Amino acid sequence: MHQIYDLHSHTTHSDGNLTPIELIDRAIERGVNILAITDHDNISALPVGQEYVSNLQLPLTLINGVEISTSWTSFEIHIVGLNVDVNCEQFQQRLFTQREKREERAQEIGRRLAKAGIVNGYEEAKKLAGDAAISRTHFAKYLIQLGHAKSMQGVFKKYLGRGKTGYVPSQWIDIATAVQWIHDAGGVAVVAHPARYDMTAKWLRRLLIEFKNAGGDGMEVSQPQQALSERQQMAIYAKEYGLYASVGSDFHYPSPWTELGRNLYLPKGCEPIWTLFQH
Ligand code: AMP
Ligand code: MN
Ligand code: MN
Ligand code: MN
Repeated sequence: MHQIYDLHSHTTHSDGNLTPIELIDRAIERGVNILAITDHDNISALPVGQEYVSNLQLPLTLINGVEISTSWTSFEIHIVGLNVDVNCEQFQQRLFTQREKREERAQEIGRRLAKAGIVNGYEEAKKLAGDAAISRTHFAKYLIQLGHAKSMQGVFKKYLGRGKTGYVPSQWIDIATAVQWIHDAGGVAVVAHPARYDMTAKWLRRLLIEFKNAGGDGMEVSQPQQALSERQQMAIYAKEYGLYASVGSDFHYPSPWTELGRNLYLPKGCEPIWTLFQH
């Protein structure tokens, strides 16, 4: 039977707008059969989601995932972990240290915005985040509320993107450490959205080689909003560097631009990442 996979999505436990339950309902409505929730540096949505799926015997397999922030040269590279053990205390503790860094960074973003005349940034972002792993997205929402920008794109371009007023260069863990953490928790490690780092092909190849050498397993090849040529190029890289191929919408909230499970087929010849955790 043809199955629809979507192995990258966010909930209110990081910077997504839907609760785990709302996200799962939406995935089922869109015909997704296998969904991974991959919140930033946080796995607390997963027990909630798993309980919901099993109590109601829903027709969906929920994969326990996470999206870990790493630093690589001057880039922030996101590494998705799939099929991780959410009960692993060591893994929980390790992700907690990432969220502490997020907290410190958020305070510093607040101070930088204040110097630029935008007050209460930290406090308001924190309110929007609640118990979630605080993210630049929470600042973005506040800045949009204040009218400093019209869109998420715009606010990152003006305030929160690399090198802008509210940008704090972060010292995340390195890629090899993220791969290790994911493997220690029994999962497989995948480079998230490789075409979105605003780097040249030469740098991207370097990144993929380093990731592979660090024991990395796969890379995302297919995303909903993507030129065919990009998808084909990512498939070529995956083959060239011996990486399994993953698919994911990186869904954060309903929008005309992206949707759970939409347009996520893999080009011919890719080795799907899920062959590593489905038997
Ligand atoms: P953080 O993990 O706190 O560094 O925030 C990164 C998050 O901000 C990403 O996961 C996206 O959800 C969001 N983001 C980053 N760049 C953009 C952009 N240009 N437009 C909209 N959202 C963005
Ligand atoms: Mn995000
Ligand atoms: Mn990401
Ligand atoms: Mn993501």
